Amino acid sequence: MDFQLSAEHARLRDRCLELAAAFATRAQAHDRDASHPNENYDILRAEGFLSLTIPRAWGGQGEGLLGHTIAYEALGQGCPSTALAFNMHCSIVNPLLDSSEVTEATKRHVADLVVGQGKMMSGNFSEPSTTSLIGERPLGTRAVRDGDGYRITGRKMFASMAEAADYTGVLAYPEGATSPLAAALLLVPRGATGRSVASDWDTIGMRATRSDSMTLDSCWVPDSAMVFRTDDIRPLRFAYGSWFWASYTAVYLGVASAAYAETIKLVHGRQPAGYAQPIAYHPDIRRQVAIMNTDLEAARLATYRSAWLLDTHGPTAESNAALYRAKYMVGEAVSRITRTALTLGGAHGIFKGSRIEQLFRDGSLAPIQPPQADFCLSQLAIFELGLDPAAILPTMRPA
Ligand SMILES: Cc1cc2nc3c(=O)[nH]c(=O)nc-3n(C[C@H](O)[C@H](O)[C@H](O)COP(=O)(O)OP(=O)(O)OC[C@H]3O[C@@H](n4cnc5c(N)ncnc54)[C@H](O)[C@@H]3O)c2cc1C
Repeated sequence: MDFQLSAEHARLRDRCLELAAAFATRAQAHDRDASHPNENYDILRAEGFLSLTIPRAWGGQGEGLLGHTIAYEALGQGCPSTALAFNMHCSIVNPLLDSSEVTEATKRHVADLVVGQGKMMSGNFSEPSTTSLIGERPLGTRAVRDGDGYRITGRKMFASMAEAADYTGVLAYPEGATSPLAAALLLVPRGATGRSVASDWDTIGMRATRSDSMTLDSCWVPDSAMVFRTDDIRPLRFAYGSWFWASYTAVYLGVASAAYAETIKLVHGRQPAGYAQPIAYHPDIRRQVAIMNTDLEAARLATYRSAWLLDTHGPTAESNAALYRAKYMVGEAVSRITRTALTLGGAHGIFKGSRIEQLFRDGSLAPIQPPQADFCLSQLAIFELGLDPAAILPTMRPA
C-alpha cells in the first residue's frame, strides 16, 4: 500500500494550489456579485485544464479520477464556485469520450471541439421537476427533427456556467422515441437563436457557479449537435457516475481543506488582550482543531481511495459504493468543519467578506449537491447488504 502521491500528481497539486491562490483573491467579489469567474476560466483554459482528463487517444492528458480529485481539491480551495462549475466540462465530455455507446465519429467531433478548438462545455440535465426521489426522471424538454438538425423546446434549470461556456450539453427527450427512458444529449452553442438564460441563481452558496435556468424556445441545432441518443439512459448514467457526480466530491473536499487551513491561521493569529498566547493554546480550541483534522483526513483518504479504486478497477459495484461513501463523508465533514471554523472565528468571522463566512455558505451545499447524503447512504447500504436493487420497494407510492 502506497500513500505517497506520485511525483506527477504532486506537481499537478502544486500547480493547482498556485492557481487557487490567485483565484482566492477574486473569490469574494465573484461571490458577492454572483458573477461568472471568467478570468479564472480563461486561466484554466490556457493552462490546459479543458483536456486534463481527456484520454490520450483523443489528444488529452489522460488523467484519471485520482489525478482529477487531487487537482480539484486544490482548485476548490481558492474559489469553490470556479472549481465546481468548471468541473461540469469533464463531467460531460469524459462520459462521451469513454462510452462504447458513442460512435467514433462523434468522439472525434467532441475531441476536435475540446482539444482542437479549445471549446468549454457546460451541461444541463436538470429541469424544474427533476428529483432524485423516485425512479426515473421524465424529461419535459423535447428535441424534434427539423431539416438537417433538431429543434429543442423546454425549460432547464441549474445550468452552471452556461453563459460562460461555449456549448451547453442539453438533455432532451427525442421526439418519436417510445421508451420513457429515452434521451438525447445535444450541444447547444451559447448565443444560439431560441436559447436564453435567466439570471435567477441568487443562492446561499456557490454563487459564482451561476447555475441559472435556461429556456429553449424552438432552438435549432445542426445534426452534429446530437452527440448521444439512447432508448435507455441508465447504462450511461450508471457507468459514468464517476464523472457525472463523483467528480464534484473533490471540490467540496477542497472547501473543507480551505476552512481547516483558515482556522489554523486564525487561531494562531488571534491573541486576546490580557493574554500572552494566541488562542491556539486554549485546550478547547486544540480539541476542536484535532476533531476537524480527523474529519478532514478521513474524508480525504476515503475520497482518494474511491478515485483510485475507480481508476484501477473500473465502475464495479465496490468502486461505486466507495464513491458514494466518499461523497457522503465529504458532505458531512465539510458541514462540520465549516461550522467549527465559523464558531472558532467568532463574531469577527461572520462578516460579509470573511473567507470563513463564504466557505461556510459554499460548504453548506455539499450534502445537497447530488447525490444527496441520504441517497448516498441508501446506495452504499444496498452494496454492503448485498441487496438486489431490482427487489427494493419504492419508498413512496408512484403516481
Ligand atoms: C451548486 C449546484 C450546481 C448544479 N449544477 C447543475 C448543472 O450544471 N447542471 C444540471 O443539470 N444540474 C445542476 N444542478 C442540479 C442538480 O443536479 C439537481 O438536479 C437539482 O439539485 C434538483 O434536485 P433537488 O435537490 O432540488 O431535488 P430532489 O432531488 O428532489 O432532492 C430534495 C431532497 O430530497 C431528499 N432526497 C432526494 N432524493 C433522495 C433519495 N433518493 N433518497 C433519500 N433522500 C432523497 C434529499 O434530502 C434532497 O436534498 C446543480 C445543483 C447544485 C446544488
